[in-house]
Amino acid sequence: MNANQSTVACAEISAKASAIVSANTAPPVHIAHATHADVWAALADLADPEIPVISLRELGILRAVREAADGSTEVVITPTYSGCPAMGAIEDDVKALLQAHGLQGRVVTQLAPAWTTDWMTEAAREKLRAYGIAPPQCGSDAHTHSPSVIKFSRQALARDVVPCPQCGSTHTTETSPFGSTACKALYRCLDCLEPFDYFKPI
Ligand SMILES: [Zn+2]
Repeated sequence: MNANQSTVACAEISAKASAIVSANTAPPVHIAHATHADVWAALADLADPEIPVISLRELGILRAVREAADGSTEVVITPTYSGCPAMGAIEDDVKALLQAHGLQGRVVTQLAPAWTTDWMTEAAREKLRAYGIAPPQCGSDAHTHSPSVIKFSRQALARDVVPCPQCGSTHTTETSPFGSTACKALYRCLDCLEPFDYFKPI
């Protein structure tokens, strides 16, 4: 496909994609040859199974929709943490949603480059806070490209000041390095006394 053909295809795709998005109450559209944009649009609002107010796209878990060597469509997902127990559920959710839209695609879990909290959008951080989970601090750490080992040991030495998502107080303390899931730590606010989850930066 040359550049011109690709431009035309993209315009068609956008029109088709917006039709799908706007017609979310209508029965699923069955498309014989789904474009990558169709798949992307279908998955746009798929929520994270652990934090239902945030989409997988906002979290940065949904990485890409691409063509595999055999011509089939692949949806690339990257777990927030290797061994994240939610990945099985996420893969099932992606497959179910593709099927509901009459789309065909394979789910591929890609571990490199490793997920970083930097991939989380600003909107996602706000939604986390509103949901009662403190968003990751020092997200820009990843820009230094320091190995995870160094980052983890640094964090062990100097704990982040984590503002309370309820009252905004920075007078908080870590009560457990692991919260409701391995990617969160359990904190407690010393002002409003509310316990809360902190989404740890990686
Ligand atoms: Zn508080």
